[in-house]
Amino acid sequence: MLRDIPSVEKLLQDKELKQCIDKYRHNYCVAVIREVLDKYRKSIINHEIKEVKYAEIIIRIKDKFDSMFSLKNVINATGVVLHTNLGRSPLPEDVCDHISKINGRYNNLEFSLDTGKRGSRYDHITEKIRLLTGFEDAVIVNNNAAAVMLILNVFARGKEAIVPRSQLVEIGGSFRVPKIMELSGTKLVEVGTTNCNHIYDFEEALSENTSMVMKVHRSNFSLKGFVKEVSSSELIKFSKENNVIFYEDLGSGILFENAFNKKETTVTELAEQADIVSFSGDKFLGGPQCGIILGKRKYIEQLKKAQLLRAFRVGKLTISALEATLENYAKKDENDKVLSLNMLNQTYEKIEERSNKIHETLFEKGIQSRVEAGTSLVGGGSMPDIEIPSPKIFIKTDLEVEQIKEELRNLKTPIILSVKDNELIIDLRTVFDDEEEYLVDSIVGVLQY
Ligand SMILES: *Cc1c(COP(=O)(O)O)cnc(C)c1O
Repeated sequence: MLRDIPSVEKLLQDKELKQCIDKYRHNYCVAVIREVLDKYRKSIINHEIKEVKYAEIIIRIKDKFDSMFSLKNVINATGVVLHTNLGRSPLPEDVCDHISKINGRYNNLEFSLDTGKRGSRYDHITEKIRLLTGFEDAVIVNNNAAAVMLILNVFARGKEAIVPRSQLVEIGGSFRVPKIMELSGTKLVEVGTTNCNHIYDFEEALSENTSMVMKVHRSNFSLKGFVKEVSSSELIKFSKENNVIFYEDLGSGILFENAFNKKETTVTELAEQADIVSFSGDKFLGGPQCGIILGKRKYIEQLKKAQLLRAFRVGKLTISALEATLENYAKKDENDKVLSLNMLNQTYEKIEERSNKIHETLFEKGIQSRVEAGTSLVGGGSMPDIEIPSPKIFIKTDLEVEQIKEELRNLKTPIILSVKDNELIIDLRTVFDDEEEYLVDSIVGVLQY
């Protein structure tokens, strides 16, 4: 069978492949064909293929040429709004338009139109942040992990930072507060116990080497039961009195109070008081991946001069996306404009109505399903306590659910959903209206195939 595999030379001459061969560089074509043949060969050796079919090899090669991009849109039917694996926040159309308009041409990224001299890329963001939140100044880095690293490195390197034990979090293996401290050259001084800390813990920990008191959002876990912690405002007062910096890593960074964060500290709340705060651009804020650092002007100026900032610098794609995101926040209808907020704000009734419609369509096609109460998650390592009541569509099947899941994942526009006990579970909270038809058709197709 291995000998029946056609040669690369022969395939390069194939009429059916001519269109691809003409379009792509010779070396690339040879490499693509070799790769497909290698895989085919392995399948033969593993007895997955019983007979060499020339036509099938041609289809495989064509498919390989056709799937130009590895990055593609997927339908998120999991109900996890800030799904880190699925790109966290989707960006609304006007933000995408701004990105494409600015980046397709030259722009004033680092050019001051006032002076005609070199400008700062951060200036495009600073004013809007100041007007929106009340913080004096801002600087943007690649992500919040970089923000934490930069802040510690600039203000606490070779010195001590006090952090409560209840906040020494791990946000997915590659971000652990103690490790970041170590990398930044900061000595971590842990205070309190796992569940409690008091202001006297901070007083006792204070030394000549203390440069900072740091508060970290717990983000992906919660403490229940006997929990006592010193609040941000108390720590701010303490820091001021003792002449040390107060820095809060807010994790998700919620600009204003809204339905989901009644007990969360908002960015605007801290504006008048905190020395420095940082948070992610693509968690609750609903913007591009970046780390947003806000604070008193004297501190932000220092960060802007730091060598390390150069290594964490963001490009025009990020800055244009963030600028447009902030513009949406400035508008009254922010909930419609920020997609992640919009999804979180959808009412139970609205999603139930959408779910019932799909349930009826499935019923007409002879597929058994039911709509039942469940919960959606905010996701993105934020607000672990909050489960948003959300109706879900449960679809029963006699087929192997894991296999159905895989088939849906391999569609041209893949569908990502959860399964449990031989049922597919769809949460429409994270599904866009115009994706519904494709979603239903695909599920019917896969189940009835
Ligand atoms: C998510 C998170 C980070 C890391 O942010 P990225 O933008 O993903 O790098 C750091 N600290 C806290 C508290 C977080 O929640």
